[in-house]
Amino acid sequence: MTETRANYVNGEWVSSESGETIDVENPANPSEIVARYQQSNAADAADAVDAAVEAQDDWATTPGPKRGRILREAGTILQERKDELTDSLVAEEGKARPEAAGEVQRAIDIFHYFAVKAADLGGTTKSPSGRQKNLYIRQEPVGVAALITPWNYPVAIPVWKLAPALAAGNTVVLKPASQAPGVVLDVAEALDEAGLPDGVFNVVTGPGSEVGSEFIENEGTDAVSFTGSSHVGEMVYEQATDAGKRVQTELGGKNPTLVTDSADPAEAAQIVANGGFGTTGQSCTGCSRAIVHEDVYDDFVAALVDRAESIDVGPGNDHEMGPQASESELKGTLDYIEIAQDEGATLVAGGGQPEGEAVEEGYFVEPTVFTDVESDMRIAQEEVFGPVVGVLKVSDFEEGLSVANDVPYGLSASIVTDDHTEANRFIDEAEAGVVKVNEKTTGLELHVPFGGFKRSSSETWREQGDAGLDFYTIEKTVYDN
Ligand code: NAD
Repeated sequence: MTETRANYVNGEWVSSESGETIDVENPANPSEIVARYQQSNAADAADAVDAAVEAQDDWATTPGPKRGRILREAGTILQERKDELTDSLVAEEGKARPEAAGEVQRAIDIFHYFAVKAADLGGTTKSPSGRQKNLYIRQEPVGVAALITPWNYPVAIPVWKLAPALAAGNTVVLKPASQAPGVVLDVAEALDEAGLPDGVFNVVTGPGSEVGSEFIENEGTDAVSFTGSSHVGEMVYEQATDAGKRVQTELGGKNPTLVTDSADPAEAAQIVANGGFGTTGQSCTGCSRAIVHEDVYDDFVAALVDRAESIDVGPGNDHEMGPQASESELKGTLDYIEIAQDEGATLVAGGGQPEGEAVEEGYFVEPTVFTDVESDMRIAQEEVFGPVVGVLKVSDFEEGLSVANDVPYGLSASIVTDDHTEANRFIDEAEAGVVKVNEKTTGLELHVPFGGFKRSSSETWREQGDAGLDFYTIEKTVYDN
């Protein structure tokens, strides 16, 4: 029988007032319903905010090292359950197993990282100017943080917001994406078992327009951290700003890899394939544009096509590339494949759904490559969010740099080159929050800041590392005489 999972509010497992549930299907086999979740409404969301408000003062005054111990213990519990969480990610989101296991490990590592940070939170002491005996700056929690997260990293993204928020003494209400909410409820279980006091962390599943919107509008929340599409994120930003909330939005990308004439075309193709086809192309930092010098273009395209055609697509447990996460994501990708052809791009690999017994049922799509892509085409400007790479030909480094920057997004950008001067120019001039040399656009370390330029991010705040704590803290300057 399919399990129905409850919301986690004020330390209790509770059903929605709506009495309705959401089915989550396995994208590799949609007739299988993996689990049911609460189809919550604004009243459920408001209850969660009330619990978080009630718990705020006690949590804020709990000593940092004690908060840290709870985070560390939760990470340890999750480590013991890593296989179960990985199963859940593969079943709900469709990720290939090694990628799913890597994501779960990342969430565990983030808990351990912020456990140390919680213990080490401090302010700074300044020299008094003469009148006062002590002049210092304290870091205080912002209050109640509302977190709204996407489906493509269903555990890593919620945890990279949650762990710093809790470490800094905030209480949290979280609305995960409806496509894969299971792992966030597993995290709530682990925190509960680790001794997190009631009300400090609350999870409510349901539609963004109801639950997310209530979190943003409710007077009890102080900060909103959102990750998702630019379209929704920009509305959320406005709504939260109007409601007087501190707000952070981490949004879409159209990430380039620039391949210069000094690059080894085969190595460059491997880097682009890893960035473009990894996680079925469903990463905000995924490479969707290869901008290639004309001298290495033909060899690069041949190597990229070879790699695309060699990828084994099928259910994530035993194949290299899993399905798209939902029917609408698959449709979105297939629509863009059609649009690219209508615009005049040349399809050189993939372009449809694979055939075979293993892939008969699910939302699978072939790794796809287009050549003859021009920078003003929609396929080169808009986020596809599937395993589709467009190759653009350029005649020199200057043109390549300008094409790389010629999009409304600026999340991640990489260059493949043997020329140090070009690499340095790219580092200086690429309009992206993350710049990489001779590396794929995807993949981030947990101890360095992450965020984008232009439409990819609200720019004011960064996530992860020390910068990840800034959003959840507010400084107070104390003159103590
Ligand atoms: P989405 O914008 O559709 O949804 C994100 C979250 O917002 C979900 O929980 C959704 O339910 C909620 N939501 C929807 N409407 C809302 C509303 N009116 N008010 C409040 N909340 C609302 O995004 P998605 O499809 O889940 O995720 C994919 C997108 O996320 C891609 O564009 C990807 O690039 C982006 N992304 C960005 C980053 C980053 O760090 N920059 C990381 C991962 C994903």
